[in-house]
Amino acid sequence: GSAKKHKPNFHHSFPAHGSQSSPRGNTFDALRKAKQALPIFPARRTLINQIRRLASAIVIGETGSGKTTQIPQYLLESEVNKGSIIAITQPRRVAAITVAQRVAQEMGSTAGGIVGYCVRFEDVTAPNTKLKFMTDGMLLREAILDPNLTRYSIVMLDEAHERTIHTDVLFGVVKAAQRHRLKTGQPQLKIVVMSATMDVDHFSKYFNNAPVLYLEGRQFPIQVMHVKEPQSDYLFASLVTLFQIHKEAPAGEDVLIFLTGQEEIDSAVRSILDLSRDLNDCPKLQVFPLYAALPSHEQIKVFNKTLPGHRKVVVATNIAETSITIHGIKYVIDSGMVKAKVYHPLSGLDLLKVVTASRAQVLQRTGRAGREAPGICYRLFTEAQFKAMDVNTVPEIQRCNLASVVLQLMAMGISNVLSFDFMNKPAPESINAALEELVLLGALERQPDSEMLKLTPVGKQMAAFPLDPRFSKVILLAKDFGCLEEVLSIVSILSVDSVLLNSSKKRLQAGQAHEKFKSSEGDHIMLLNIYRAYKQVNGNKSWCYENYIVARNMNTAQQVRRQLREICVRQQMEISSCGRETTAIRRCLAVGLFMNAAELSKDGEFMTLTTRKQVSIHPSSCLFQNKPACVVYTELVKTSKTYMRTLSVVDPDWLMEAAPAYFRRKRASAIT
Ligand code: ADP
Ligand code: MG
Repeated sequence: GSAKKHKPNFHHSFPAHGSQSSPRGNTFDALRKAKQALPIFPARRTLINQIRRLASAIVIGETGSGKTTQIPQYLLESEVNKGSIIAITQPRRVAAITVAQRVAQEMGSTAGGIVGYCVRFEDVTAPNTKLKFMTDGMLLREAILDPNLTRYSIVMLDEAHERTIHTDVLFGVVKAAQRHRLKTGQPQLKIVVMSATMDVDHFSKYFNNAPVLYLEGRQFPIQVMHVKEPQSDYLFASLVTLFQIHKEAPAGEDVLIFLTGQEEIDSAVRSILDLSRDLNDCPKLQVFPLYAALPSHEQIKVFNKTLPGHRKVVVATNIAETSITIHGIKYVIDSGMVKAKVYHPLSGLDLLKVVTASRAQVLQRTGRAGREAPGICYRLFTEAQFKAMDVNTVPEIQRCNLASVVLQLMAMGISNVLSFDFMNKPAPESINAALEELVLLGALERQPDSEMLKLTPVGKQMAAFPLDPRFSKVILLAKDFGCLEEVLSIVSILSVDSVLLNSSKKRLQAGQAHEKFKSSEGDHIMLLNIYRAYKQVNGNKSWCYENYIVARNMNTAQQVRRQLREICVRQQMEISSCGRETTAIRRCLAVGLFMNAAELSKDGEFMTLTTRKQVSIHPSSCLFQNKPACVVYTELVKTSKTYMRTLSVVDPDWLMEAAPAYFRRKRASAIT
């Protein structure tokens, strides 16, 4: 049937509810009581005993049962770690930070002592840290220097069901480390895999038939409602549904809305605030966005207790599916959509794309409504659409660009990546595409007398940077082109969230303020101009405010820059500056990003250089009006069209020089 845009119509009426909310204090005593009230608490002894005796274990428990915050504390209290560090990995940076802070608080301290965290560009640990929450990517980096993970006695791979690319590679790395330590008589490495979903057979099988420990969940009944007709605009439908709930439900019954990404969520939050202003006899709304890129002090706000007479509305990405638990949620509104990285085999690039969620994700989302009392989940898709969804989410490793992890595996000395012990093998074509990309970037080379690839000195240097290999390469090139200072500034800004403030209310003023930074050379040089201006005023806050620059993100970029610069110094790279000669910068970008190039065709549209796909310049780009003949871009975003974001004007000859064989071959195959 054709999708209609009108009020979503659900199969059931909206029932009325009685108010229920439990007061929570924040004192240490209250925290201890809260800990003991968690569903995991009665299982404490059994868990400790089991994990103590097992080399590997799989733990399953509903989201919010206490796996992440409690098990590490239990193991530490009963010294299962034998004095060494317990690593707890999280797929998300935010989760690593907030959970570490929470656990530190429960233990009567603050993060950076016994409990610490370590995420990209931020290490908050101390010599006495015993519980180390970290992103899976960080543990993988550590494994490059120490493949046996000797500092750790226990590695807990949390949120394993998410199957991020880094978790998947870590599975193989910790398994190898465990086996190697056993074989060489080193202290045991315990592996604890934690998951919020039931389908863990493959985990168990992979870790030598590790026993599965089930935690009793606490789940109240949830009424599920589907729309009767497919919705053409889930954003609109979610707002209508929210206000239907809002008009009928009493204060204190909070709502969680699942949407897909930052821009969408920010715009939904604005609409909700605008729309609620005209409502009189409803509770007041407290609206919170929640997505990975949100600064952690903003994210923490969703944990605050809803004020009396208010209703909390959290508008979140899939981050609220399992890694973060929010109190008071009675209603879930599920768009059924998710923003996912999708690998584009032709270009070898990852594309962020809004796609249909899997049934497993939808079930997780539904579960968020029944944590503390019976709840209701409104699905903005029909029952038939639900049945048509994939049962499980495809592991990221089977749909993403593998260049970064392949480089890391090679740097760990795993030379035959094709035969690496993956839980789910990525397609050989994707591994080969990654290998080819790394060869083109000069990170790998064929041995003269065999087909084996080996890491080059350049590749080794590239692996030292916590960046996409393309950007590591740009940094290495900048050293040769004499513009390392500038490129460090640009790459640092690219590594943080947008430094350009772009709220819809002030869009016009912001655009005018940003005008002076713009460059006919493109967005990368514009970012450099912003960095230079920012340095000139010493990061002055009111300057940022007047110029619609996000001071916080600029500040983070500066910290990132300091760390990248340190890595350069450690690698004995000469730190050079090109001053006003910004052409050198664009040459580096062209050579590093040659796979992300597009040219203007006769009909005024852009085509990617090698795969001949039509792309457009994102309206936010400073090249939006000019349409240069040839550009490289930082990323592709697919909405109604495929947009190139953050671009620079380049000379086609630079690209050809960067990888002549690549362009000859790709052109030939694109023509046939
Ligand atoms: P799981 O890992 O099983 O999903 P967690 O250990 O993350 O569960 O959370 C257990 C409980 O701890 C949650 O239900 C919530 O009540 C509380 N909690 C966790 N993190 C925070 C936080 N940052 N602030 C307040 N409460 C939290
Ligand atoms: Mg958890």
